[in-house]
Amino acid sequence: MKTLLPTSVIGDARLLAGLDQGRLDRQAHLWTHGAQPQLTRAAYAELCEAVGLKGRGGAAFPVARKLAGLPARGIEAVVVNGSESEPISRKDRLLLTRAPHLVLDGATGLAHALGAPHVLIAVHDPEAALSIREAILERDDQLAIEVTETPGRFVAGEARAVLSVLEGGPAVPPGRKVLPTQQGYHRRPTFLSNVETFAQLAVLARLGARGFSSTGLASEPGTQLLTVAGAVQRPGVIETPIGVPLNTVLQFAGADAGPVLLGGYHGRWLPQGANQLLQGTGIVLALGTETCPLGEVYRVAQWLASQSAGQCGPCVFGLAGLVDDFARLFRGDASGWYDAQRHLGLVPGRGACAHPDGSARFLASALEVFDDDVRSHLAGGCGRQVLGVLEVTNG
Ligand code: SF4
Repeated sequence: MKTLLPTSVIGDARLLAGLDQGRLDRQAHLWTHGAQPQLTRAAYAELCEAVGLKGRGGAAFPVARKLAGLPARGIEAVVVNGSESEPISRKDRLLLTRAPHLVLDGATGLAHALGAPHVLIAVHDPEAALSIREAILERDDQLAIEVTETPGRFVAGEARAVLSVLEGGPAVPPGRKVLPTQQGYHRRPTFLSNVETFAQLAVLARLGARGFSSTGLASEPGTQLLTVAGAVQRPGVIETPIGVPLNTVLQFAGADAGPVLLGGYHGRWLPQGANQLLQGTGIVLALGTETCPLGEVYRVAQWLASQSAGQCGPCVFGLAGLVDDFARLFRGDASGWYDAQRHLGLVPGRGACAHPDGSARFLASALEVFDDDVRSHLAGGCGRQVLGVLEVTNG
C-alpha cells in the first residue's frame, strides 16, 4: 500500500470528510455521510441547475445542460471517468482510493434516476481499481457496475478515448466529434463525467440546494478539490470553497515565492504575486525560484508532444514543431521564439480533441509569463538548472 496522500481542508469538509483517518469502508461512509437519498431525474436536473454544478474534469461543462442533452429514455450507461492522466493531478485517485462509496453513490443514484442499466468506471491507477472493486462488493446497487483499467496516456483520459476503451477499442479519441449524450457507449446515449463530479452529486443529493450553497461563490456555490504541488511544504489534495483566493491556498500549503501554474499542462501560468479567485482550477503548482522555468516548460513540451494520439496532422506536426522551437529557444537561438509564435497561432482548433489547444495554451502563457527568463536565455542562459519540478510521467 502506498503512503497516504496528505489531505487538508479550508472551510467545510464535504468530499474529504472523515478521510484524515484513511479509507472509508461502507460502514464508515454511512456514518460520515448518511444514506444516499433516491432522487428522480427531474430532481437531479433541478438541483444541478439551482447550484450551477459544473463538471470537474477540466471543461467545466454545466451538469444540468448535460442532463438536458440526454433523450427522455434509452440511456445506456453512466460512465465515471477516473482516467486521471494529467501527471500533477491526484484528486480523483484520492476519491477513488479513500472515498469510493461517495463516488459510487453519485454514479448509481444518477443511473437509477436516468434508468441507465450500466455504471462503467474507467480508472488507470491499480490501487484505485482495487478500492472501487472492494467497495462494489460491499453494496447491492441492483445495477451492472464494471471497472475497467485504462492506459496512463494523457489523451486516454479524453471522454471519447475512455468510451473507446470501455468498448474494447484503443485509448484514443475517435478523430471525429461526437457527443456522448447522443452517441456514447456503443453509440447509445450516455452520461459521462469526471470522478469528482459524481462525488459532488452525492453531496448535493444529501444537502439539497440550500445546504450545498452555504459555501462558495453566489454564482457557483460549493467546494472544490485542488491538487497542490511543486515548491510547497505541504503538497496534497485540499478541499476549499469555490472562489478561494489563490494567495490563501499558497500560504496554507507553504508555497515558495515564484510563478504558479493553474490547471495543469493544459492550463496557464500566473506571474509571481498574482492573485485571483480559484474556480474550476483543479491544480495549483508553485514553481519556486530555484529551477529554470524555460527548461521546465521545454521538458513538458516534449512530453505533451509524446502524448499525441498521432492521428491529426496539426497536432502531430504542430506539437513536434513547438518542441523544436522551444529546444532552440532554450539554447538561446532567437529563431525558436519567432517560430514558436507562428506555430502557437497555427495549432489550436485543428485537432479532433482538446490536446493541441490545451498544449498551445500552456506554452503560450509560458512565453508570456517567463519573458524575462526567455531574454536571459537569448543573452546566454539564466544560470539555473532544470530541477524537474514539473512531473512528466502518468503516475
Ligand atoms: S488532436 Fe492530437 S491527441 Fe487529439 S485526437 Fe488528434 S492526434 Fe490525437
